[in-house]
Amino acid sequence: MNGKSVKLAVLEGDGIGREVVQSAVDILRFAAGKNSFPLELVDLKIGLDAYKLFGRTFPPETLDGMRQCDGWILGPLSAGSYPKDDKDYPMASGKIRKEFDLFANIRPIKSLAKSSDKNIDLVIVRENTEDFYPDRNLFKGYGEFWPNEDTVLSLRVITRKACARIAETAFRLASSRSGKKLVTAVHKSNVLIEGDGLFLEEVRRAAKKFPNIHLNDGLVDSVAMQLVISPQSFDVIVTTNMFGDILSDVAAGTVGGLGLAPSLNSGDKYAMAQAVHGSAPDIAGKGIANPTAEILSTAMLLRWLYSKTGNECARNTAQDIERSTFELLASPESAALTVDLGGNASTKKFTDEIIEKIGKSS
Ligand code: ATP
Repeated sequence: MNGKSVKLAVLEGDGIGREVVQSAVDILRFAAGKNSFPLELVDLKIGLDAYKLFGRTFPPETLDGMRQCDGWILGPLSAGSYPKDDKDYPMASGKIRKEFDLFANIRPIKSLAKSSDKNIDLVIVRENTEDFYPDRNLFKGYGEFWPNEDTVLSLRVITRKACARIAETAFRLASSRSGKKLVTAVHKSNVLIEGDGLFLEEVRRAAKKFPNIHLNDGLVDSVAMQLVISPQSFDVIVTTNMFGDILSDVAAGTVGGLGLAPSLNSGDKYAMAQAVHGSAPDIAGKGIANPTAEILSTAMLLRWLYSKTGNECARNTAQDIERSTFELLASPESAALTVDLGGNASTKKFTDEIIEKIGKSS
């Protein structure tokens, strides 16, 4: 498979999506060229750009285009501001995760920036297809209901299948890491007795297949506090969809913010790079967004391709991207870092610095 051409879709999304995805793609192109990694990148429209062109935020043309690719790089989506007449309302991101069964959302949190010298290295493994998310937790329809004009019922769905496979993913990941060989299952089983009881049952079942990995568990509120005071004590965290989403932002705060939190949405057949952060409308268009999360998400996608196909060019390209990004983040010069990291570099300058480092590395 070495050297086989790989086709990736690029979906910029909304807000800072254009800036951070463009940065990730520029770096990817350069690193791929250096590693003789034959790569085809296809631009597909999603979000408000797609709405302007096709009258909907996730047009069938985009879905068809995605099917023809080996993986996807997605920017953030401002679903909250989509027009109510959008046929794809409320959220393309949920549709993609459901359509392609991207059941695992892998969110590494690592001390990278100089400002965060706390030796943090953990991964949140978040279930991605059910739980409290009404856009994906039913076969048909939306999981929130108005029985009368003053009442809303929001449905939570927890299935044995989803719990079993996310638990297995977490233990496999903990086995492959050189870390603490520890999985922490996060839940609220004192309140959500049945749903989180089922989740814990499946986590404990999966644990039996991985005798070298230690399992402990904690209530989501207590783990949120532990993440703030001793993030170094965690290795792999496995949890349900909504808790995973909230805890990843908490954890990102311990290493310098959302600009540094990458993620991969993956299933058995497909994977998608997508930073943890949203569309950040407050800084969109200013050219100051930190593209690190999207850059490292893209490297995660390349590593996933390597794990599936053995394509060493993909792995070498990922290594180059990661090494140069880590080096830049450790830089003491504020001129090289973006504003969120205490520097004054633009997104473009930060990107160019990484490309220069990749060019110089052997
Ligand atoms: P959305 O509604 O799309 O989720 P949001 O603004 O509510 O957007 P985020 O986009 O996740 O949520 O941003 C939260 C905060 O973090 C904002 O103040 C934003 O400026 C900051 N932020 C997020 N991503 C980045 C980034 N890549 N670089 C710099 N700052 C960021």
